[in-house]
Amino acid sequence: MSSSPVLLCTNDDGIHAPGLALLTEVAASIGSVWVVAPDRQQSATSHALTLHRPLRLTEAANQRYTVDGTPTDCVLLALRQLLDPAPDFVLSGINHGPNMGEDVLYSGTVAAAMEATILGVPAVAVSFTGQDPEDLQSYGALLGTIVSSLLERDSLPPETFLNINLPARPAHDIKGVEVTALGRRVYHDSLTRSEDPRGNDYFWIGGGRSDWSGPQDSDFRAVQAGYVSVTPLHLDLTNYDLLSEVRSWSLGK
Ligand code: MN
Repeated sequence: MSSSPVLLCTNDDGIHAPGLALLTEVAASIGSVWVVAPDRQQSATSHALTLHRPLRLTEAANQRYTVDGTPTDCVLLALRQLLDPAPDFVLSGINHGPNMGEDVLYSGTVAAAMEATILGVPAVAVSFTGQDPEDLQSYGALLGTIVSSLLERDSLPPETFLNINLPARPAHDIKGVEVTALGRRVYHDSLTRSEDPRGNDYFWIGGGRSDWSGPQDSDFRAVQAGYVSVTPLHLDLTNYDLLSEVRSWSLGK
């Protein structure tokens, strides 16, 4: 690790999000910071790449750019166009809202960290599960400590990145940091059907209440109990326990 590491910050809530501002402050306390973030809200865009129109990279300030695309577009442009050599670390977030359990499959915040991992740069995704802006602001020092100790490790295991969720309380009030597994999210009434002024049906996804379930060591249990949750995620979705079972089905014979 070089004495002054280079860190890339991105997010899915857009360049103006307070969570990105705090993450940028955290990164600036550690090394040289580049910010490449979407020019608008891109939550729940998952790992989407923009393929069917041109992308614009706009310089907003020194080492600070916006992209009219997804978080994944941002990481790709940053690593393939702007930063040579590659940065030492990619930080994605701090997302406004949790990214636990199945959320990681929809999250643009998590996808940006995943894209960095695919491109060979260690990364973390950070999300704040609360809503109080002052609580969010209180996490700067702790995140600095976590990112610094990850940088000291020099790398993460192959194809692995960390998904961090901060509890809905101020940092001085947390019980500690727990390493967790993904829990399960159960949505209720998250698809609403209604009628537009012309009498046509329309649908609106989201807004319903959601519950959580999952084992004792899962992310949401840690966060609910007041811990910072750190979940190691990897890119390989293979269900290895099922390989021999599915082979025994002799599909196609
Ligand atoms: Mn978001």
